[in-house]
Amino acid sequence: MVIMSSDNASNTTSSDQYEQQREQLRQFYCDTWDKHLKQQQTLTDLEQQVTAVIKEHPEYHGLLENKEASVNAEYLPEMGENNPFLHMGMHLGIREQVTTNRPVGIAELYQRLVALKGVHDTEHEMMECLSEAMWQAQQNNIAPDENSYLDCLGKMEEKFRTNKD
Ligand SMILES: [Zn+2]
Repeated sequence: MVIMSSDNASNTTSSDQYEQQREQLRQFYCDTWDKHLKQQQTLTDLEQQVTAVIKEHPEYHGLLENKEASVNAEYLPEMGENNPFLHMGMHLGIREQVTTNRPVGIAELYQRLVALKGVHDTEHEMMECLSEAMWQAQQNNIAPDENSYLDCLGKMEEKFRTNKD
């Protein structure tokens, strides 16, 4: 989006690939949820993680049970529309960061935040910092800056502590 290219052919290819990946990812969410509901097969580790996140979002269940709607839905962030797949992906991303403690220190910080706010609220707040870091990286075409991400989370912790009632 940021990178303007006059090469239409490669533009088309990359946006097709993007569409395809997006479709596959969304199908994966739907299939996993379906597998969970039918309870006939054992879920893989990844599927269990995905199921855990889906369970925490009952507002998305209807959508996930309609594969066609899921795959084709368009969300406009500029219209304030929340993309459920992006949202769930961020939960998974944060959990992965915590499990691997990358960036270093995030596991401990997460535990402190969870003690103050609980898992779900903590992760929702963390998404603000994560999307900011991702947006900055995208704008500048660089890897997300771990230090400013941790900085943002540190400020959030301060805010949690002062607003605790
Ligand atoms: Zn959520």
